[in-house]
Amino acid sequence: MSATLGVLLKQLKPDATITIFERLDKVGAESSDAWNNAGTGHSAFCELNYTPLKDDGSVDISKALKISEAFEISKQLWAYLCNEKLVKPEIPFINDIDHMSFVWGEKNMAFLKKRYDALTQYGMFDDMLYTESHAEIADWIPLMMKGRDPKEQIAVTRMAIGTDVNFGAITRSMIEYLKNCDGVEVHLGHQVNDVEEEKNGLWKVDMEDLDTKEEKIIFSKFVFIGAGGGALKLLEKSDIPEGRGFGGFPVSGQFLRCTNPAIVTQHEAKVYGKAAFGSPPMSVPHLDTRMLDGERSLLFGPYAGFSTKFLKHGSYMDLLSTIEAHNIWPMLSAGMHNISLTKYLIGQVVQSPEDRFHFLKAYYPEAKFKDWELVTAGQRVQIIKKDGDKGGVLKFGTEIVTNQGKTLAALLGASPGASTSVSIMLDVLDTCFPTEMKSKDWLTKLTKMIPSYGTSLIHHDDYCGEIRDYTSRILKLEEV
Ligand SMILES: Cc1cc2nc3c(=O)[nH]c(=O)nc-3n(C[C@H](O)[C@H](O)[C@H](O)COP(=O)(O)OP(=O)(O)OC[C@H]3O[C@@H](n4cnc5c(N)ncnc54)[C@H](O)[C@@H]3O)c2cc1C
Repeated sequence: MSATLGVLLKQLKPDATITIFERLDKVGAESSDAWNNAGTGHSAFCELNYTPLKDDGSVDISKALKISEAFEISKQLWAYLCNEKLVKPEIPFINDIDHMSFVWGEKNMAFLKKRYDALTQYGMFDDMLYTESHAEIADWIPLMMKGRDPKEQIAVTRMAIGTDVNFGAITRSMIEYLKNCDGVEVHLGHQVNDVEEEKNGLWKVDMEDLDTKEEKIIFSKFVFIGAGGGALKLLEKSDIPEGRGFGGFPVSGQFLRCTNPAIVTQHEAKVYGKAAFGSPPMSVPHLDTRMLDGERSLLFGPYAGFSTKFLKHGSYMDLLSTIEAHNIWPMLSAGMHNISLTKYLIGQVVQSPEDRFHFLKAYYPEAKFKDWELVTAGQRVQIIKKDGDKGGVLKFGTEIVTNQGKTLAALLGASPGASTSVSIMLDVLDTCFPTEMKSKDWLTKLTKMIPSYGTSLIHHDDYCGEIRDYTSRILKLEEV
């Protein structure tokens, strides 16, 4: 997120002076690292939680349309950066992979069909295929069909233009570009400990060089807190009234990784199922072909877990250290209103390796225990927000919190995530630099970087197709 904002700002305002602090000795090594997330280029092609069923029985596709468009915006910025040779990712960071949704039982099949009917009204989704035929599904995803009861009622949708993204690789290449720009400094191994507004309106940023233990201070006109799981703590330190009432609830992720190369090559898709009752939306199980460190892998998960850490490389004191008088009631209320989530998480945490494996067998009936190992992914910090009626609510999206003067912005939450980072950072710019964003100079640059900027891809089907052709050509989207 911070790399994206830095790149956008440096392109829009070449004389900007930007200093980036990262507590680890490498950038993009927390949630954005390829092994720490699922790498899905979220386009709402396969994620059923983006299209909830409404009380009237229809499917709400509004979120799916927005997310799909946001991913097209991300691809445009990446295409621009690659085309202009501003970034040179260490490995191909985006790869073509079919996105499929896979459901069981009459009720879920009816839902998938309704979802398909609603989405295919839009050009963005009109390539989607739907089938209930075992033979056709076996042709698409043979590994998932071997050993399956031929009487099982199943349905699948398929989008051939899905992607797998190595967000760590694109992050590192964007930071590499920034490091070489005049006026940009990147300090690794520097932990920001405090952010405080001075009387003159500048922000005083306190940090520690974790190597030398030296305390340092800088002053800045504008601060972006893009610290992932570490953002809540820094938002609280900033003491802005707008940050009051926010809390965080950490959910960790684990995946099963296939260790048998002969199996890995037999599956070529990201196949998303339906979330279990009470589970958080990001726990939708999926069997995924991934390109990790330039190599093809097969992963299944995520399994949710609980840890009090807010960052994978964080401290067990993280949760406790963010509980303050202003958020204790919202956090308790959110807990009381989410008993099913609590039960779900407890169930996940106490799972044995055999339980986890049993779950995989619903997707891959002939899976063998010896072929899979457990790997730990990143931490997400779900937002808890003060709510007038309920006291506190658990939010699954992202939230940009800014101060009244729009000189500080913090990003909380992690969903839909890195896929939509460009749109989220454009929102930060819209909020904090409203005049510049409307200026001719910035608008010209924005449309150079993101050709569709200001035009809806949701409502212009042919244009959406043109934009997709353009980004696919530059990003060399080829079959995995
Ligand atoms: C299990 C899992 C699966 C996911 N799957 C997907 C997916 O399939 N698709 C998708 O688009 N998104 C996915 N996401 C979400 C995605 O990973 C995040 O939204 C995204 O990576 C967040 O980027 P970020 O820059 O905000 O945070 P991060 O990548 O975590 O970066 C924050 C950085 O700030 C640093 N930092 C923290 N505190 C401080 C401090 N005090 N001082 C200095 N530095 C600090 C951290 O070390 C870190 O490097 C997933 C997340 C998880 C956990």
